[in-house]
Amino acid sequence: EMAQQRPEPVTRYQPGQDESHLRELQLISDLHTAIAENHLHMNYQPKLNIGSGRLVQVEALVRWIHPELGFISPEEFIFLAEQSGQIHDLTAHILNRVAGDARQWAAVGLDVSVAINLSAMDLTWPALTGHVAEAFANWHQGLERITLEVTESALMEDPEEALATLNKLRELGVTLSVDDFGTGYSSLSQLRKMPVQELKIDKSFVLKLESEPQDQLIVKSTIDMAHGLGLKVVAEGIESLNAWHLLQQWGCDLGQGFYLSRPVAPVDLPETAKSLVARRQELTQIAPEHS
Ligand code: C2E
Ligand code: MG
Ligand code: MG
Ligand code: MG
Repeated sequence: EMAQQRPEPVTRYQPGQDESHLRELQLISDLHTAIAENHLHMNYQPKLNIGSGRLVQVEALVRWIHPELGFISPEEFIFLAEQSGQIHDLTAHILNRVAGDARQWAAVGLDVSVAINLSAMDLTWPALTGHVAEAFANWHQGLERITLEVTESALMEDPEEALATLNKLRELGVTLSVDDFGTGYSSLSQLRKMPVQELKIDKSFVLKLESEPQDQLIVKSTIDMAHGLGLKVVAEGIESLNAWHLLQQWGCDLGQGFYLSRPVAPVDLPETAKSLVARRQELTQIAPEHS
């Protein structure tokens, strides 16, 4: 048991400090094994075209069920992978897993493009472009149907280097998306210089959209601004039909959220796609106050 390994209290001891340090050390060491032995898996969350109500893409989200500690959130272990020098192994592993899952869907006739998240540190990794090209060498669709999501704050850590990496990825043909937009303090002039095609409005602005006039103002003007710059806009965190309707009125291009679908296991995606087809009438209806 971990508690027995706890060292004697030291000066400026904070309750919980040693426990959380031990947890980190254990996770860092176990993550190494989990990557090597293929214990991580991917879930996929649908992104729908808001105008047509159709499933067009899925976002790959990595999952780790630790044998003793249970579900570990990706935010926690991706941070640890970055700190411990494992992030590139993890990203390469994820790229290959997603390519494999996409092959399975193609085999059962499911036509869907995929989005993959990159870590900020991947933007300074010279081998990144090669790994993307290799993972999707036998991909059955054009590479523009692979989207790579990079957070706004990752772009702004080292904008020069980010720009160089994004340019290389663009030469390969993949689509680039700015994730968590609105949380990262980038200026419009900086964003305009980035070779990105899509902007994802952070879910913190979308979750309470129907009840927060300020969020409505931010989301609506972000959509207009992005369209003015020629970018597609995705809203994440859609949890209600009301939010979906507002985004529909404002001309948001794509939507993602628990109201539409939770992230699902790759084998469940064909079934999820079917149930979304069955909901198309609900999703394409115009909001009551505008009909
Ligand atoms: P993200 O890329 O912004 O992903 C969206 C997160 O919002 C996901 O959480 C998703 O489950 C959650 N979400 C989607 N719709 C809703 C909704 O309607 N309501 C609420 N409350 N949440 C919603 P998740 O899977 O826990 O991932 C968290 C973050 O971890 C991701 O944020 C991304 O930054 C990172 N991440 C996840 N998978 C990967 C990966 O494969 N590679 C890398 N580098 N990062 C990843
Ligand atoms: Mg994302
Ligand atoms: Mg996001
Ligand atoms: Mg996020």
